[in-house]
Amino acid sequence: MKIWFDMDGTIANLYGVENWLDKLMNEDATPYAEAKPLIRMATLARMLNRLQREGYEIGIVTWLSKGATVQYQEAVAKAKREWLEIHLRSVRFDHIDILEYGVPKQIGRDGILFDDEERNRKAWGDGAYDVDNIIEILKAL
Ligand SMILES: [Mg+2]
Repeated sequence: MKIWFDMDGTIANLYGVENWLDKLMNEDATPYAEAKPLIRMATLARMLNRLQREGYEIGIVTWLSKGATVQYQEAVAKAKREWLEIHLRSVRFDHIDILEYGVPKQIGRDGILFDDEERNRKAWGDGAYDVDNIIEILKAL
């Protein structure tokens, strides 16, 4: 079984960074680095390490910025990887899939998805959850 996490709006508070949208439009990748965690990372890391030991694969599936140039896509991907290194340092992700904006997340993936965007959850079908109660849902696995 695989467990996937979106980043922006799910574990990383990108939309809480001041002027995040203007910055993204100006191809400034700093909001991705500055985003604060949305849940307690120490708790999440502990749960993910436990689940991995029990046989679950842990993955990130996240989109790049809308309409980004190749250069900006690279900067955003780097910022996202660094964010994971900083905030979830103890987690060895089985998958880190950083996709172009809008690429369907369900293609080639299955299991559980945590994602703040309703269209992604709908497309995923069974096993897709919103961002409330992430820890409680993981605890029940
Ligand atoms: Mg999101």
